[in-house]
Amino acid sequence: MASREKFRTYEDVFDQATLRTLFKLSSQGYFDELKSPISVGKESNVFSAIKNNEETIAVKIYRVNTCDFHKMYNYIRGDKRFEGLTAHRRKVIAAWAQREYQNLLIAREAHVRAPVPYAVHQNVLVMELIGDNGTPASKLKDKPPQDLKDFSQSLIQEVQKLYNKNLVHGDLSEYNILNHHEKPVLIDLSYGTRSSSPIAAELLARDIENIAKYFTKKGFPLTQEKIMTTLNNGRILLRH
Ligand code: ADP
Ligand code: MN
Repeated sequence: MASREKFRTYEDVFDQATLRTLFKLSSQGYFDELKSPISVGKESNVFSAIKNNEETIAVKIYRVNTCDFHKMYNYIRGDKRFEGLTAHRRKVIAAWAQREYQNLLIAREAHVRAPVPYAVHQNVLVMELIGDNGTPASKLKDKPPQDLKDFSQSLIQEVQKLYNKNLVHGDLSEYNILNHHEKPVLIDLSYGTRSSSPIAAELLARDIENIAKYFTKKGFPLTQEKIMTTLNNGRILLRH
């Protein structure tokens, strides 16, 4: 089947290059077809997709035309892994998807609860769908934990495990944490930055602030200082 036919229904949503990328990934066997939209964000669409007629996986597609690639460029240009990247829309967005893929690999290596990344090509990332029987898990924002203390402790552990692999999430909030069976799963790792980067400390501080605010708002008072003390017994920020 020609690429144009297989993803014809998405012609109004995605540009031709993206349709070709989807076709390429599907012909490589990563998925058969897109099933249903999970989320339409500012910069990306996330779909569930069927693989081998049974498994459900997730496909995140950065929309080339609506992404704020200037902002992306600013956040990725200091990342040594992407040295030499030029400020071209397609290149920056591909690097952004590539970085999310690489960060997910690092997270999985660190045994962090995060989706298993399967493939990335241009602006499309294929990964494990977090959920049950093809139904995506809820965001923390939509499903507050039953045990705030226990959940916050698990979450801080995940941040710690990432940091032990020299990675800072960089966009951590109740929007990018799923509540899956009362355990946190970290998603949206595209901002994930090496701890050696000049902006890592700032990003980590922002992540910690967001966590503290969320749990405090929900009725479990948690200060940024407390989180920092828990993290690596307070040594985590001192390495900069
Ligand atoms: P963005 O914030 O750029 O729109 P995200 O990666 O945060 O992109 O994904 C948007 C939404 O899609 C998430 O809030 C979540 O609800 C859902 N989602 C993303 N990845 C997965 C996944 N692997 N499994 C289940 N749901 C996901
Ligand atoms: Mn997000």
